[in-house]
Amino acid sequence: MIKILGLVFLVSCSSLDANGLTLYPIFDRGTPFICTKGAKAGPGRSHNSKTSKYAVDLQLKGVSDLLSVFDGTVIAVTNCKNRKSSCGSGYGNFVKILSKSGYIAFYSHLNKVFVRNGQRVKVGQRIGSQGKSGHASGPHTHFTINYSWIDKGMRAHKKSKTLLPRSIDYNFNVCANKQCTSRSIIKASKLTCRTKRLKIYKF
Ligand SMILES: [Zn+2]
Repeated sequence: MIKILGLVFLVSCSSLDANGLTLYPIFDRGTPFICTKGAKAGPGRSHNSKTSKYAVDLQLKGVSDLLSVFDGTVIAVTNCKNRKSSCGSGYGNFVKILSKSGYIAFYSHLNKVFVRNGQRVKVGQRIGSQGKSGHASGPHTHFTINYSWIDKGMRAHKKSKTLLPRSIDYNFNVCANKQCTSRSIIKASKLTCRTKRLKIYKF
């Protein structure tokens, strides 16, 4: 973030500062969403492995397109026709995008995938739509930021289509190219994510 005359502007790409990695929005600005499961899901549930420690399950209401959170290259895609629970080893139709800085954005359980493996994508580009493919009880997107294949080498990635490096916390941003308030940027691990008393966020 850059502060000018007391107003907060976001730089034109995802950025890393003292507050950590701040991403561009995962979906169109103003889309209402529910966080059904977050980073603190606890033992016995998913999101307690190294690769999904900071995962969030987001259920979008209305518009369901998902956007690339940074400029990068698509390094893995599954696009199952049957969308069964075994599709993508449970992750269903998924997309992994690698940024130049070595972060991987992982979107899973998609309905449709709009990108192909090896494709360069720009921040804000539509990469797929929310779905319930793979092992999912309802439409939602399981989203993580993982870091990094660079320390292990791309060979590690090629060994497994679904294997991911460790997940990291990041700033979840629902405001782009506008004057943003601090309310529109939340740490992923601080999002209120519950299966009971669900909170609909709309910014
Ligand atoms: Zn999940």
